[in-house]
Amino acid sequence: KPNHVNFNGNGIKRPRLDDQQTKLCTNGSVPAKQRKLLPVYNVRHRLIAEIQKTPTVIIIGETGSGKTTQIPQFMHEVNMEKSGIIGITQPRRVAAITLSSRVAEEMDCKQGELVGYTVRFEDVTSSHTKLKYLTDGMLLREAMLDNLLMAYSIIVLDEAHERTVHTDVLFGIVKQAQAVRRMKKLAPLKIIVMSATMDVDHFSNYFNHAPVVYLGGRQYPVKVLHAKHNQEDYVFSSLVTIFQIHKEAPPNHDILVFLTGQEEIEAMANSIRQIALELDGKAPQLKVYPLYSSLPSQQQLDVFRPTPVGMRKVILSTNVAETSVTISGIKYVIDSGMVKARSHHPGTGLDMLKVQKISQAQAWQRTGRAGRESSGFCYRVYTKQEFDSLLKNSIPEIQRCNLTSVVLQLLALGINTLEFDFIDKPPREAIVCALEQLKYLGAIETVDNPGLTKLGMKMAQFPLDPRFSKILLSANEYNCVEEILSIVSLLSGESIFFIPPNKKDKALAARQKFVSPAGDHITLLNIYRQYSSLTVKKQWCQENFLNWRNLHYASEVRTQLQELCRRCNIPMSSCGQDYDQVQKCLITGLFMNIAEIQRERQYMTVGSRQIVSIHPSSTLFGSQPPCVLFTEVVQTGRCYMRQLSRIEPDWVMDIVPNFASKHRLTAHVT
Ligand code: ADP
Ligand code: MG
Repeated sequence: KPNHVNFNGNGIKRPRLDDQQTKLCTNGSVPAKQRKLLPVYNVRHRLIAEIQKTPTVIIIGETGSGKTTQIPQFMHEVNMEKSGIIGITQPRRVAAITLSSRVAEEMDCKQGELVGYTVRFEDVTSSHTKLKYLTDGMLLREAMLDNLLMAYSIIVLDEAHERTVHTDVLFGIVKQAQAVRRMKKLAPLKIIVMSATMDVDHFSNYFNHAPVVYLGGRQYPVKVLHAKHNQEDYVFSSLVTIFQIHKEAPPNHDILVFLTGQEEIEAMANSIRQIALELDGKAPQLKVYPLYSSLPSQQQLDVFRPTPVGMRKVILSTNVAETSVTISGIKYVIDSGMVKARSHHPGTGLDMLKVQKISQAQAWQRTGRAGRESSGFCYRVYTKQEFDSLLKNSIPEIQRCNLTSVVLQLLALGINTLEFDFIDKPPREAIVCALEQLKYLGAIETVDNPGLTKLGMKMAQFPLDPRFSKILLSANEYNCVEEILSIVSLLSGESIFFIPPNKKDKALAARQKFVSPAGDHITLLNIYRQYSSLTVKKQWCQENFLNWRNLHYASEVRTQLQELCRRCNIPMSSCGQDYDQVQKCLITGLFMNIAEIQRERQYMTVGSRQIVSIHPSSTLFGSQPPCVLFTEVVQTGRCYMRQLSRIEPDWVMDIVPNFASKHRLTAHVT
């Protein structure tokens, strides 16, 4: 592999909202001083007047101009929320947590008092909380309990340009809540839609021609460089580019690298630390910070600490640093051009996590991160031609995702998805497909007349994908609630395995101790059982190449789910070593994720009839069971099934006879 990436510095000008540049002092340590330097500060009176005038306002401003942290505070300062709460939604938990912590610091209060946050499995708010940062998914859950969202007097839908499924659904929910509250002469609901860039007219039209406020931002010029030649491996090229920059650039010029996910980021962090050791003395000391959603709260906040003098920060981030959070000191951006996104195979019902190309709009956002405080550089490890071929804007998630969860949530709100007032309608087939899945899961009676069954209502209460809620709700029948709780919790977070590329053999040998011939789910269970029986967990994890943080996260999730089970009157039960029970129980929710072997190493999914292989990370890799159940499909070139269990076709016939007969399991090997 080449150890140098050649770049073309053709210095394209980034399209921006406003060219106005204000002088910026970056080293003020008092938040109050910093606040006054933000672009929104000077226009706060006009802004407040504008917000007071109309029920719905759209606010557009560059990332870092102070929208998310400041505007809620301005509103609170004039007591605009009255006796209600200001809710600020974020597409990602990492953003909700770090932003609320920042605002709490600025307002000089402890998190959970005046300022707090709510994300899945974590609620840091109290009855005193007035400014509540929460994920869009959590607000949607709250809407299930009260579709008029009466606790809130102001709802800020932030990062609207991201167009996550949840934000898109919330647009419709809050719009309706606002209208109904007005009609019923209840306390009014103010809606504020905020975004870095977006199709303003589209939004304004949807919200009954709401006025749009543009914030002047500051943005310094960024020199954009494209790779001269196509790069084979964006991870490797990004790594090489980091060191090309690192060897030349003065200290304290920090580097932000956009990658796609935890595994990739942790692996690169390790490589960087190792290479940096060899450079000892020849370049500034490097500090590497990963930034992704499942990182525990404390570590997320570390990223924001100023770089010690004479050193250099390298931040390896998912697209959370694109527009949601702002990190100071960034002089260089390295853009891999890739993002991991959920996408859906229309018609087949298969959802997959896929590393895919970003849009041009995203590329420009990433570029902008290098010009926040002074001029900077953006290295795109892809060519100009590749950039030109990117989509201008990303397709809204709702038009490319499995809708089962959303359709269920809307049903719990009494809304038929086919009639919902979407800003952009998802394809009809996708809704029908979701309804079919819900029918198989037993959440609705029929597709044509979808009303929730008792089971469906229970399923909607769990903050899980409906398939996993179903599994949990079936667990009592199979006498394995304890086991399923552990497995579902482990599947809710990121991988618990830590496999450093240079110690791969050792790591795999360590894993071997836990491996069950039944597959990955039982292997996970074996690990969790041992983990939870220990008092000193951290060292044990290290010795066994397990990710302690992710296991710890899973244990917290488990506690929460167990509490939910208690509230739903699901008694605890355990099947001991009778693992068949667990596997059977998994089929009750994941029957759509079953594949049969076709020929050497090649499987075909039942129902969706897609060619898939066993992911190399699976404990079943290398063996070829005739019939498997998988948790998800990832596409990296080919489609791979991840997290599998070996199952018996007979079980499927017994457990989901309707599905099995419609999709005829072949159960023979050719
Ligand atoms: P916007 O929402 O317009 O993108 P924010 O309100 O998120 O802007 O951020 C405004 C400024 O606050 C940022 O430019 C950054 O300097 C500062 N800031 C935000 N979050 C943090 C944090 N966790 N730590 C330190 N500074 C922060
Ligand atoms: Mg923001």
